[in-house]
Amino acid sequence: MAEENLKVAVRVRPFNQREKDAKSKLIVSMAGNQTIISHPQTKEEKKYAYDYSYWSHDSFKTESNGYFSADNPKYADQKRVFNDLGLGVLKNAWEGFNASLFAYGQTGSGKSYSVVGYGPNKGIVPMVCEDIFNKAEPLKSSGKTIEVTFSMLEIYSEVVRDLLNPSGNRKSGLTIREDPKIGFFPQGLTKKLVGTYPDITKLMDEGTANRTIAATNMNATSSRAHTIVTVNLVQKYKNEAGKEMAKSSMINLVDLAGSERADATGATGDRLKEGAAINLSLTSLGNVISALADNSAGKNVKVPYRDSVLTKLLMNALGGNSKTIMIAAISPADINYDESVSTLRYADRAKQIKTKAIVNEDPTE
Ligand code: ADP
Ligand code: MG
Repeated sequence: MAEENLKVAVRVRPFNQREKDAKSKLIVSMAGNQTIISHPQTKEEKKYAYDYSYWSHDSFKTESNGYFSADNPKYADQKRVFNDLGLGVLKNAWEGFNASLFAYGQTGSGKSYSVVGYGPNKGIVPMVCEDIFNKAEPLKSSGKTIEVTFSMLEIYSEVVRDLLNPSGNRKSGLTIREDPKIGFFPQGLTKKLVGTYPDITKLMDEGTANRTIAATNMNATSSRAHTIVTVNLVQKYKNEAGKEMAKSSMINLVDLAGSERADATGATGDRLKEGAAINLSLTSLGNVISALADNSAGKNVKVPYRDSVLTKLLMNALGGNSKTIMIAAISPADINYDESVSTLRYADRAKQIKTKAIVNEDPTE
């Protein structure tokens, strides 16, 4: 059982229209794996080193199909991010390790762009799914059985909704149960068996359409909910002794709600309450990350997984049996300095976490 640090990548996006209109200044730079942010007034610099620092602010060209590709080796496009992060997730999954990837950052910072993507700029979820089926095809003829299931849920104000069965549990949501072996899980979550890549895109579109969309001043189309896509990969085969074995992996891909404080978005009334609940999950996530970082540094503090739905469901991803990657998405603009620094600090803390993943391989009976 090898201990391994949680891998952290930071990615900075192009200016959006709002930032252009405000004549925003660029305050982020990157050098190698370092991300540097300078204070808009004092120009004081803060430097952080991560596993990867992705420059996706400029130096791209738009291909005829709308794909943003690198015009300059500095620009990190979707393929580059997939090659660094997605392929690692897949390698772990085929070896029978659980793998998790989650995106953190303020609304509009580029979380969904990295995790799900838009149009031709496919993100990690579709590319991971596509790759699974590409690799599964030749394995089938070698006598292996490959089973892939897909689920998608959303956590909104501490209520879990099944995005593939939204009417089934509209009010109270799914109950979170605890299993001594696998940890916390949402009871009755739909798991669809999928055989081809188009099966998955269809389900993802269905799930996305069911998401709760609530506009905020920050970004009119952004969801205020946490979305978790889970792909289960099970490989069945006979070992040398002829015994039927199964290797399984749970891949969790998490697009978190915006990390901004409620006041920065001009939220009032219901929206504010909603913001508070979202912050309960994110605050708990921050507390869990802090406790795990302390424990990795040799302390022995209790990790408060039970404080929120999100931290229960991410328990394995963060402190247990999983190889985990965090993508911290930031804005390039001076007007978002406080939020960007807060995200960079969060990511800095997360990279100290160590997880212990084991191969999930057992006889089938
Ligand atoms: P979030 O999910 O964090 O709220 P989005 O991923 O929806 O933010 O990104 C907000 C906007 O910025 C979208 O229009 C998206 O296309 C654009 N964007 C984000 N990241 C990038 C990137 N790396 N390159 C180009 N455009 C991006
Ligand atoms: Mg989003």
